Amino acid sequence: MLKDRYDVVVVGGGPGGSSAARTLAEKGLDVLLLEKRPSIGSEKRCAEGLSIGSLKMIKEKMGKIPRKCIAQMVNGAIIYAPNGKEVLIDFGEDAGAIMERKIFDKWLAAQAAKAGAHVQAKTEVVDVIKKNDFVSGVIAKFEGEIYNIEAKVVVAADGVESTVARKAGLNTTNKLINIDSGFQYEMCNLKMRDPKKIELWFGNEVAPRGYVWIFPKGKDVANVGVGVAMTDKPAKYYLDKFIEDNPKIFSRASILEVNAGGIPVGGFLKNMVLNGLVVVGDAAHQVNPIHGGGMKEATIAGMIAGEVIAKSIKKGDVSQKSLSEYNKKWWDKRGKKLQKIQNLREVVEKLSDEDFNMLAETLTGDDLMEFSRGNRFFKLGKILMKKPNLISLARKLI
Ligand SMILES: Cc1cc2nc3c(=O)[nH]c(=O)nc-3n(C[C@H](O)[C@H](O)[C@H](O)COP(=O)(O)OP(=O)(O)OC[C@H]3O[C@@H](n4cnc5c(N)ncnc54)[C@H](O)[C@@H]3O)c2cc1C
Repeated sequence: MLKDRYDVVVVGGGPGGSSAARTLAEKGLDVLLLEKRPSIGSEKRCAEGLSIGSLKMIKEKMGKIPRKCIAQMVNGAIIYAPNGKEVLIDFGEDAGAIMERKIFDKWLAAQAAKAGAHVQAKTEVVDVIKKNDFVSGVIAKFEGEIYNIEAKVVVAADGVESTVARKAGLNTTNKLINIDSGFQYEMCNLKMRDPKKIELWFGNEVAPRGYVWIFPKGKDVANVGVGVAMTDKPAKYYLDKFIEDNPKIFSRASILEVNAGGIPVGGFLKNMVLNGLVVVGDAAHQVNPIHGGGMKEATIAGMIAGEVIAKSIKKGDVSQKSLSEYNKKWWDKRGKKLQKIQNLREVVEKLSDEDFNMLAETLTGDDLMEFSRGNRFFKLGKILMKKPNLISLARKLI
């Protein structure tokens, strides 16, 4: 089944790996996509939220998304400040989706296969092969058997706990301050206010540096989770407390699935390539630092990586210098924007609950949407300027 040589081996069957594999296969390269889990996409480590813009982008690059990949379309959000004040965002039309990742990720991988890539689940890459300072393949394990597979380029799309890049010699270690801890239950029998709206709760008591979310997947089913900075208490503590404190929503709820995982919310890498190696997605910390969404970022990075790798292979030069065009393209297309959003995150995480309450009085839902996209920082800076103790923070935004 597995050959001993491919043009490119992609490690990891998430959105980053599938997008890279599809782009490469479309360009006529011989591609192998390896996923260590027996079933691509499950168990999820994700709240499964995607904006309508991201859905459109993925559709353009990966093909028309089948309805079964989407659990529920949503048309807005209800955001709660620590004092309970609400900010309502109502688009009046579909503005995002809560996906069904166990179906969506499989579909993404199938799109790569359709383009010509060979996809294989339950195959773990246990090491990389290096020759003359070039990464030249992987050692993989499938059903107890070891395979030595050569490749001109290896793509490390192996997620937040990535080992492939480090084994190849690229230090991708992130600072603890840039990693949020996520914990989530998929629950049923919930009493949501409006199952077409996501709900978010902010505050240093509820979720230090992060937020609690309810992402509805149906009338009474939702992903209920929390992302928090690494503190002395685990994320599960905050989620369980929130559930206990909100019997109106949860008194009859049951837990269908438990998900946990780290979320890199910053620490973008200047260099993401070596001779014969490219890193994409969570493995390269490519996540929106404010809301923690990474499916879109991984898909974009996979595409850029695929284009640069195909070009490098065509010209017969897979050196770090040639592949570093990926660094430049990614930083131009996404990195600069995401870095700005990381700066915003660093400001927001210093705000007290009182500051959050003040912002909830002043800001509109539209403002909040724009902040998460890396826009309108000037407006936020001007509001913070009004409070003497926040002037130095505000200057970072103006
Ligand atoms: C609690 C939580 C909630 C989140 N909510 C959202 C959200 O609502 N929206 C959003 O857009 N993002 C969200 N994210 C982030 C999102 O899940 C990731 O950013 C996204 O999946 C990254 O895609 P990826 O392809 O880089 O990595 P992944 O999707 O993690 O895929 C990496 C794959 O590599 C495989 N792998 C790892 N090592 C090996 C190996 N050695 N050999 C073979 N295979 C290997 C893994 O099994 C995995 O399937 C959330 C994350 C968490 C933890």
